[in-house]
Amino acid sequence: MTIAVKTFSRLGEAASALSSERGARFFGGGTILMRMVNEADPNVATIIRATDPAFTRISASSGRIELGAGVTMAAILADRELSFLHPVARAVGGPAIREAATVGGNLFAQNPYGDFATALLALDAIVTLAGGFGQREQPLEEFLASRERSGAILVTGVAFKRPAADAFRFTKVTRVRPKGISVLSIAAYLPMASGRISGARIAYGAMDRTPVRGKAAERALEGHALDASGVGPAVAVAADGTSPVDDAIASAWWRREILPVHLRRLLLGAGHV
Ligand SMILES: Cc1cc2nc3c(=O)[nH]c(=O)nc-3n(C[C@H](O)[C@H](O)[C@H](O)COP(=O)(O)OP(=O)(O)OC[C@H]3O[C@@H](n4cnc5c(N)ncnc54)[C@H](O)[C@@H]3O)c2cc1C
Repeated sequence: MTIAVKTFSRLGEAASALSSERGARFFGGGTILMRMVNEADPNVATIIRATDPAFTRISASSGRIELGAGVTMAAILADRELSFLHPVARAVGGPAIREAATVGGNLFAQNPYGDFATALLALDAIVTLAGGFGQREQPLEEFLASRERSGAILVTGVAFKRPAADAFRFTKVTRVRPKGISVLSIAAYLPMASGRISGARIAYGAMDRTPVRGKAAERALEGHALDASGVGPAVAVAADGTSPVDDAIASAWWRREILPVHLRRLLLGAGHV
């Protein structure tokens, strides 16, 4: 099977090609896409690439952080302004994968992948999309809920507010360290007002078809201190509203069993990576 590879110097042109070419797939870092190509997946007829510098740009010096969708995990690890995201980027695969794996590609990674997307969901990220409609922005939560139906849309970048120091936490539970696939991951944005949680956002990876919010836990945390009794109600409802699946890494039952244990540890600031 012949596959055409088309490279564009502008994101707009890449977006047009992606939405109009038959069987077109965008190439981020290729860590997932190349496997499809190697397996002769009939859905991949054309590979679209973009060399636009905007695609790999990081803007992190102010309160609003913008990451081009082509920014790799390695580039995040090399940026000191993004140190709060280093544990997340370091949790994606091994060194070779991190050199190629992009932020944009992670938003499309199928469960149980998607560790970086889980972090972005807790950070309330906005996704910038380009397609036949021009450009538009969409909250990541909405994007994830509809991504299978989004079709050939190019993600050009993500943006989010820089969290206050120590307000962001992440943990990944895996059977193989340091680079195993997620049994689950948890990201939490925990803003405090007068020593109490105000407006927490908690996101889970591998607890549903896509990364999802732990809304029951968020509600139960509101107004509580991050101490053993304060986190108790959130831990008790940690798995409410989630639908994990059985896979080769873990059963759905096991994921539900251990989620509260790891959420408790994360909220109490113990043992997060
Ligand atoms: C050995 C191995 C270990 C891994 N470990 C992890 C892990 O621990 N955690 C984890 O989360 N993931 C893991 N992954 C999965 C993957 O490497 C990451 O999710 C990575 O971020 C995917 O990004 P990519 O740029 O390589 O995607 P690609 O392979 O380039 O693309 C994946 C899909 O997304 C589409 N796509 C990519 N970028 C865009 C864009 N900007 N706009 C529109 N569509 C786009 C592609 O067309 C394709 O359908 C692993 C993969 C491998 C092979």
